[in-house]
Amino acid sequence: MRILNGGESAPVHYHDGGYKTCVGGDECVPCKAANKASIKTYFWVQDQKDKQVKLYKMPWSVKKQLIALQEKPATAFSDLPMPYDITLAVSGAHTKEVNYVVMENTPSAVDPSAVKEAESKTPVDIIIEREKDKQRNGGNSQAKDIRNSAAYPDADLGAPVF
Ligand SMILES: [Zn+2]
Repeated sequence: MRILNGGESAPVHYHDGGYKTCVGGDECVPCKAANKASIKTYFWVQDQKDKQVKLYKMPWSVKKQLIALQEKPATAFSDLPMPYDITLAVSGAHTKEVNYVVMENTPSAVDPSAVKEAESKTPVDIIIEREKDKQRNGGNSQAKDIRNSAAYPDADLGAPVF
């Protein structure tokens, strides 16, 4: 995938068969059920398999490898879009032991139409706010969500099963 824009993080619970954005404190049903949240960082990415621009909620285990790439002189980058694609190798998919290894690719030109499309998408901080609104309203608020946008497939990434 090519990371195009975004980078806002939010605590997210895996609760009741799905991911729920943490709204904190007494308002948060999963928190009250002592369900631990994990940090996801939201990006708009281009999936190189089908060239579509998708929302990717990056797990911390991937994010920390991205930070390592950012700090290594050979792979350093300071701005988005990233100057190269990353590929995720997944082992233990769909188990608690799911493990991601981020592999960097050779630098290559970014697809300008994908950049334009990502810029026209709802900014990730607003997506996070809308998800929180939805949780505060018991999952059925009037708040618009992003059903019309594709999500980077968890299936490919081996979303953990709890
Ligand atoms: Zn919570």
